[in-house]
Amino acid sequence: MSAVDFTSSKAPDSAPSNFIRQEIDADIAAGKLPQGAVITRFPPEPNGYLHIGHAKSICLNFGIARDYPNARCHLRFDDTNPSRERAHFMERIKEDVRWLGFDWGDRLRHASDYFDDLYGYAKRLIESGHAYVCSLSQEEIRSSRGTLTEAGRDSPWRDRPPEQSLDLFRRMCAGEFEEGAHVLRAKIDMASPNINLRDPVIYRIMHAPHPLTGRKWSVYPMYDFAQALSDAIERVTHSLCTLEFEDHRPLYDWFLRTLEIPSPPRQIEFSRLNLTHSVMSKRLLTHLVEQGHVSGWTDPRMPTIAGMRRRGFPPEALRDFCARIGMTKKDNIVELELLENCVREACEPIAPRAMAVLRPLRLVIENFPPDRREDLVAPNHPNDPSLGTRELPFTREVFIERDDFMEDPPAKFHRFAPGKEVRLRYAWLVTCTDVVRDPKTGEVVEIRGIHDPDSRGGNSPDGRKVRGTVHWVSARFGVPARVRLYDRLFHEAAPSPDPQALGGQINPASLEEIDDCILEPSLARVPPGALFQFERSGYFVADSEDHAPDSPVFNRTVSLRDTWGRKRGR
Ligand code: ATP
Ligand code: MG
Repeated sequence: MSAVDFTSSKAPDSAPSNFIRQEIDADIAAGKLPQGAVITRFPPEPNGYLHIGHAKSICLNFGIARDYPNARCHLRFDDTNPSRERAHFMERIKEDVRWLGFDWGDRLRHASDYFDDLYGYAKRLIESGHAYVCSLSQEEIRSSRGTLTEAGRDSPWRDRPPEQSLDLFRRMCAGEFEEGAHVLRAKIDMASPNINLRDPVIYRIMHAPHPLTGRKWSVYPMYDFAQALSDAIERVTHSLCTLEFEDHRPLYDWFLRTLEIPSPPRQIEFSRLNLTHSVMSKRLLTHLVEQGHVSGWTDPRMPTIAGMRRRGFPPEALRDFCARIGMTKKDNIVELELLENCVREACEPIAPRAMAVLRPLRLVIENFPPDRREDLVAPNHPNDPSLGTRELPFTREVFIERDDFMEDPPAKFHRFAPGKEVRLRYAWLVTCTDVVRDPKTGEVVEIRGIHDPDSRGGNSPDGRKVRGTVHWVSARFGVPARVRLYDRLFHEAAPSPDPQALGGQINPASLEEIDDCILEPSLARVPPGALFQFERSGYFVADSEDHAPDSPVFNRTVSLRDTWGRKRGR
């Protein structure tokens, strides 16, 4: 895999052309679309939550449906493995697709809707001598498949008469046999250089109840067979999937050809999305959830769509990201910084500004009367007056960020230090005059200062230069809150995909929880999901699971700048 850095690329203005759209254009020009309209599908298996890789596929498939005349995209659940699937996952998948901004209309489908048809197709394959019931064990089938350099061996059941296979298949379906007793295999070519064509299994016995069809079936179709024929039944024109299915395409085409499907769908593969500092397979994500390495599928550190949403990423950011990475035929790994930049760009115009102090230090303004309250007015957005203004109560005691004070600062430190004058944003110029220490530790626990009464609004009355501006919150009116700072889940850019090693690779600083933050009072009683820019700190969202208006919990969506990249000296 090659590392690709798209960080500096510009967002395209509209859906970009890509090699898949070019193939579709060529098919349309050649008159290959029987109904004249493109039909795509997004076929998730409901065995986990969707991740950002799925977002790439959703934007591709639903994006084509949006952009081509009369085109459609089906949301089809690939529910062919009842042992791993949950109805709950289906609901979450639908929610995530909708949240991303796409709509399947009345085209919600399930592979299980076609179980009767698929059964019929399988019988047709048996009748025409293209499939047989094989009674080898799973292990025997595996060991007789051969290798890349060695042909496979024919099953002793390969020439079983079709009537016998039909009878056995019917009885498999009626639940007469144990799991593993028999399978139905396509009869293709045990010597094919493509292992997928060496008599692949197309049906297996499973006694698990299915979330939608209950106990009706005791056999379930395998992925390749179900996928090809579900596409055919839905008259999908372009079946877009990831590169690992390239070697399966001959099998996909074999099913359609052998069953004489008119105007068969065309499979086109594209590269999977991989992101640095993440893992992207549902198997590994399931492991993280089940082992308690994260709080669940919606943990804001997860690369799931639900996790990103809870983290505060706007859906436009994900769509923009998918547009920028484009479509390729070559596997690559995309830098997380590109996604973070898309998030910053999407948040900037929509997030109202607010002031919040994450690590408070008390500042007492000695020449400001104790009972006085001044309601200052601040714009909610520096460039968008339509977002309105808010009142900021100012009082004698305010909190500032602990980092905004240094007792013995270096030359370029423009924030508070003894004797230094600093602007409190929207308020007054304040000079630090004194510090108060903890008698035991000697640590500074409070600073004192005086304000220039003529500098209201933070304006210098005589043109004297005040370089530093810091944010603050009134100590009397501030709202205490818990804030969670998130960072990348894995230290390494490319974590080892060994499930056992996964826990040990987690970045311990990926979650830092701070309990005694102070928010400006306008942030009291905001609803879950509300997104803000906390000035100078980053974008933050009210947590969708733990936030309550009277006990606020905010997640840091993303910092204002790429601090990680800077730390690494880039
Ligand atoms: P995983 O390996 O994460 O379990 P999957 O391919 O098994 O993924 P499905 O639910 O079967 O998950 O995927 C639904 C669709 O999403 C498929 O068409 C698949 O090709 C696509 N998809 C899955 N992962 C990615 C990815 N990382 N990048 C792009 N598309 C993806
Ligand atoms: Mg899959």
